Amino acid sequence: MAACRTCGEPLDEGVEVCPVCGTKVAEKPDGVAEQSDGVAEQSDGAAKNGFRTRDEWLAKNTQSAGIELGYSKKFDTPEFQAALKASNRTYTRIQLGVLFGGPLLVALAGSLIGNAGAGIIIGASIAVFVVAIPVVAFFLIKRNTAKSWDGEVTDLTRRSSEHSSDTYYITCRTDEGKRRKVNDYGRSMYDYLQIGDRVRFHPRLNVALEKYDKTHDSYLLCPFCGKRQDLENDDCDVCGKPLLK
Ligand SMILES: [Zn+2]
Ligand SMILES: [Zn+2]
Repeated sequence: MAACRTCGEPLDEGVEVCPVCGTKVAEKPDGVAEQSDGVAEQSDGAAKNGFRTRDEWLAKNTQSAGIELGYSKKFDTPEFQAALKASNRTYTRIQLGVLFGGPLLVALAGSLIGNAGAGIIIGASIAVFVVAIPVVAFFLIKRNTAKSWDGEVTDLTRRSSEHSSDTYYITCRTDEGKRRKVNDYGRSMYDYLQIGDRVRFHPRLNVALEKYDKTHDSYLLCPFCGKRQDLENDDCDVCGKPLLK
């Protein structure tokens, strides 16, 4: 697939202008000769805009979107902390729902079948697991992730599975020299990060790794729902929560 010379955007067949940066796509089918003098020749594309490389273009874009080098100062603002608290509260509610709703439903199902006694016994035994699993998981997760750390991405691995969706592993080395693995159950962070990126781990965020240098990115990642966001956005247009920028 062809890619835009200016911003690197993959281009569909027959597209005349890059949808991202507006650079005119060369009409010549043989791209080699075109590439050598492409920038100088562009009258209304990259040369006019003053961007010669994707990097330059991205740097200018993040700058105009107000994205600075370094970890976002927004994390400590009352607005962000309130959003964080609210999202963690939802998580607790879901857990409580599973905790009490699960056994109740099982018991109810048993009584509907017509054998309330069996239903209650099955319900009670399943309840032990339904209650135990989230409780244990909750404390394990909490213990393992309670601390924030700074480090560097050292490995990105995708593990395919026949029976469930793929899992994405992000391995980091903290500044203290410890190895940390962060699972990405979607693939937001996996796609967003590159080996060598400096990152900060925020234990209470769904997208837990914040990039130190966001000044050459073409999008932001919502730390709450993991959806890609335009650089200009201050809040996520999917979940409405504040972005780290
Ligand atoms: Zn482009
Ligand atoms: Zn979001």
